[in-house]
Amino acid sequence: MIQENIKAVQENIANACAKVSRLGKDVNLIAVSKTKPLELLQEAYAAGCRDFGENKVQELVDKYEAMPKDIRWHMIGHLQRNKVKYLVGKVWLIHSVDSYRLAEEISKEAVKKGVSVNILIEVNVAEEESKFGLSCPETIDLIKKIAVLPGIFVKGLMTVAPYVENSEENRQHFVNLRKLSVDIKKQNIDNVSMDILSMGMTGDYMVAIEEGATHVRVGTGIFGERTYSIS
Ligand SMILES: *Cc1c(COP(=O)(O)O)cnc(C)c1O
Repeated sequence: MIQENIKAVQENIANACAKVSRLGKDVNLIAVSKTKPLELLQEAYAAGCRDFGENKVQELVDKYEAMPKDIRWHMIGHLQRNKVKYLVGKVWLIHSVDSYRLAEEISKEAVKKGVSVNILIEVNVAEEESKFGLSCPETIDLIKKIAVLPGIFVKGLMTVAPYVENSEENRQHFVNLRKLSVDIKKQNIDNVSMDILSMGMTGDYMVAIEEGATHVRVGTGIFGERTYSIS
């Protein structure tokens, strides 16, 4: 089941790339495995997935311990400063940095452990009230401040687009995130590259790829619907 789902997603990715003359290898599929049991992650691993996304620190760390070590773990959920110490050294990329104080904590922990940490800045490009992330103007200012912190590299931008019935409704948000990354790249800030655009989820990843996504985060499309327990 999981294997077929992954194959279908990969075909969709290839088709979206073909439509805009992009190379399939330039788009990375992150299997978003939050709430899902290890057996399903192991199936995805067996089918070739090496990038997994989680939104809770404890769950990511538990799965990190249990799964093969060649996996790249992506922290895609809101991150509290007091949990940073558990992640640094285990996570490949933190997608959800949205404040200077969080970046400062990541930097402190990276220096302490003698590692460097790759991060993305989360942008609330649709300016939704309910969402984490910065506005476009705030993003540039924050990146300039973060750039000078040791042990931390800004690799690009991430956004969680609104939930919509028709993925076309999100196209403009993806265009805007891409534009923002181009503007930032032009400023040639030390320790800042804009190589990664993390955008697109199950409902809209094909549109996101057409607009330049380098990393798509697909949960439901691979693992099926999530059921949340109350605890
Ligand atoms: C859950 C989640 C996803 C995956 O969502 P699906 O719609 O299941 O593909 C992607 N990004 C973030 C930040 C998430 O929290």
